[in-house]
Amino acid sequence: MIALGGNAIKQPHEKGTYEEQMANVETASTQIAKIARNGYEIAITHGNGPQVGNLAIQQEQGAHMVPAQPLFILGSMTQGQIGFMMQQSLQNELIKDGKDVATVVTQVIVSTDDPDFQDPTKPVGPYYDEETAKRLGAENNWIVKQVKPTGEKNWRRVVPSPKPLGIAEAKAIKRLVESGTVVIASGGGGIPVYKNGGKRHGVDAVIDKDRAGAKLAEELGANIFLILTDVEYALLNFGTDNEDPVKKVTVDQAKQYLSEGHFKAGSMGPKMEAALGFVERGGDHAIITSLDKAADALAGKTGTHIVPN
Ligand code: ADP
Ligand code: MG
Repeated sequence: MIALGGNAIKQPHEKGTYEEQMANVETASTQIAKIARNGYEIAITHGNGPQVGNLAIQQEQGAHMVPAQPLFILGSMTQGQIGFMMQQSLQNELIKDGKDVATVVTQVIVSTDDPDFQDPTKPVGPYYDEETAKRLGAENNWIVKQVKPTGEKNWRRVVPSPKPLGIAEAKAIKRLVESGTVVIASGGGGIPVYKNGGKRHGVDAVIDKDRAGAKLAEELGANIFLILTDVEYALLNFGTDNEDPVKKVTVDQAKQYLSEGHFKAGSMGPKMEAALGFVERGGDHAIITSLDKAADALAGKTGTHIVPN
């Protein structure tokens, strides 16, 4: 199970044109194709932050012409958008190897009893001034919050970031992976759905993609969970003069480092939690490294490795 970070699709300095994004996706596909050729069965998940943010702006600006769609629909739209780009570029790499590639639009089950529904924490979409934020909040039934102490536009919409409880399409994905298909699934953390009256319904929330990736890894019975981001190692004492790469840790040691605050919330923190959670629940091995080091890390040459106690 591979989780791809944001920079595999859009670099921070880029606007996010189709051409820019496709070029990044092609670089990522080259790395993933190497792994696929080494005989691994692969499922891939990916982030969607910048893409869903841009789509939210299009919804809002176009709302006087065509109705804006709910956030969970934007989640499904970006799964199709990014899934298509990865699917096509991976096919172009792997077609000669006789490998199939397919994207599965994936729903991730959450509970509306999750505490994050009481106090949403995840900012989404553009920044607004206070007045605009409050007006849009009232018009759209959004919760809006001040997210920066100062600045003209320091308010944003916030949504819950609930824990993933299950992957609706896990069995279908597993069958595809076992038949040798490279599957792209659960993009952007999956489309959040809750169960009510025996049916599933979409809900506006954002599931952390590394957490959802760990859940999918677990439900697929994956042996390795490979988190690919923009740093080669998770570091101790991050942001200080004493940064120290974590090379191999047990679950308990990783928990200790987490509790000591080495890994920042919203970036390395959720990755380390997802990685150690996967191993704790029976996975063989989790790895955190950068996209360009993926094959080397799988060969044990670099990266942060999380192993059972
Ligand atoms: P992604 O898009 O891959 O999910 P994130 O930006 O969420 O990427 O997480 C990767 C970033 O986490 C790194 O670029 C780094 O700035 C930050 N980070 C926070 N804590 C650490 C740490 N302890 N070691 C390494 N990177 C860290
Ligand atoms: Mg991230």
